[in-house]
Formats: sequence, structure tokens, C-alpha cells
Amino acid sequence: MLEEIVIRPVGVVKSDLLDHKKAPDSEPKAVVEVFPEYAGALKQLEKNSHLWILTWFHLARRNVLAATPYRINPNSPSYGVFALRTPVRPNPVGLNLVQLDRVAGLELYVTGLDAVNETPVIDIKPYYENDIVFSPRTPHIYSLKRKMQRSLLLKQALTHHQEECAGLLLAVRMALIAEERLGQLNSPDLYVMVEGSPCLADTIQGLSRARLANPPRFEYRPADWPGRTIWRLGSKVLSITARRQIDKGAFSETDDNEILDISMQTP
Ligand SMILES: [Zn+2]
Repeated sequence: MLEEIVIRPVGVVKSDLLDHKKAPDSEPKAVVEVFPEYAGALKQLEKNSHLWILTWFHLARRNVLAATPYRINPNSPSYGVFALRTPVRPNPVGLNLVQLDRVAGLELYVTGLDAVNETPVIDIKPYYENDIVFSPRTPHIYSLKRKMQRSLLLKQALTHHQEECAGLLLAVRMALIAEERLGQLNSPDLYVMVEGSPCLADTIQGLSRARLANPPRFEYRPADWPGRTIWRLGSKVLSITARRQIDKGAFSETDDNEILDISMQTP
């Protein structure tokens, strides 16, 4: 058995992110600076839109086997560290799915790298279509802070829909309410009907992981007006109708009732 493995960093993260406790409200931009001796390993990397960046949480504790996802919800039950993405773990390897915006020499400009400045990078791999599991089963770890939960949903939505359009912003605001009222959005028992733009429908589908069949959880009716989503869980029916379109400013600033009509029916 190998007692020890030596890993040498291949690069380092350059980022404005200095404190890991602050969840950014939008996708963090960062640069991965690859060390000159690994230049040859970057050949044809620019053909990929997305990458897996493996980082080393150099500040994390390594003697912890179970933890609560404290950044998300300190009141959550504890999980084994292999069931979490927490930095504390025997080998503190970070796994980051990022969008590759451009390659400039040894610098990789990426979006979505949630790592603090000077984090060592230990490997870079392309993201493939086969990496997708559209509707996986996952535990529901819900953030106590509404703004953080909204940021997490926004990040998920962007990963799926790939553009920060009006339909996506509206979908995230609607999904946040549905999650608060009905629980986990990818629950096999949660059904959702979307009426509105293809962007709204696509983002809601991405966030809820609702498929058209097997099991049928998703229905879409194209419509011109800003949109409506109807969520059904058992006998509960939640209807959320947009009063108007929203931009990024309104997305972060407005109250629910200013932009949405919300009604919940329980028989
Ligand atoms: Zn769109």
C-alpha cells in the first residue's frame, strides 16, 4: 500500500475572493495561472467551454470525518465529509466546475471558480457531456439565508441555461419560493407546469430537474407574457405568476410581492 503520494501544484488561482465565508451574488470570475513548466499540457484546452478544476484547500483541517455544511446551514444534520463538498477532509481536494472564457498564454480566464486567491491548483480536466446526470438524487441542504439560497439557485440556473436572461432571473425568483413552500425542487413527487418564454421553461426545468417523462413531472405551454409556474406536490398547488419582467437590479432588490402573484391552495 502506498503510504504517501506527492502532488505538486500545476498552477494557482488569482481571484478577488479573499474570504470563503462570503457567498458571491453572481458567478465569481477568476484566473488560473498555470506554471510555465506545464505549458505543454494546455495544448487544445481552448476547445472546451467547461473544465473541472481540482484545487487544494491549503487552509483546511484534515482530521475531520463528519461535519455540518456550516456555510449553507449551521442547523443542518451532520454528514460524513465524503457526503459533502466541505473543504475539511482527509485529502482537501476541491472540485470545481467552471466555464472557460478564454485562454491567454498560461492564463485561463474562468467563470464560476469559488476558490480564494492563491489557492493551489493540482489538476485541470475537460468537462464532457457524459459527466451529466440530469436528475440525480441528492440530500436537501437548504440555506438558512435567503440571499445565499438565491445565489445558489442562480449559479445552478446559469450552469444549466448558460445565459443570464430575463427568463432565467424570473425562473430563479419563482423557484426560490417554490422551494421554500414545497421543499426540494428535484423531488420525484413535485410536478411543475410552466407557461411563458422558452428561457423561463428551460431554467425551471434545469432547477427542478423535472423531465417530460419517466416520471412525467414537467409540462410547458409557450406564451408571450412574462410567465407563470404552477407547482403541485401531493394535494398542495402553488401558483406563481409574474407581474412583470425583471432585470438583474430588480432580481436582487425587489420583494416577492412586487414582481410576483403567489397563491397556495391546500384542500
Ligand atoms: Zn435565456
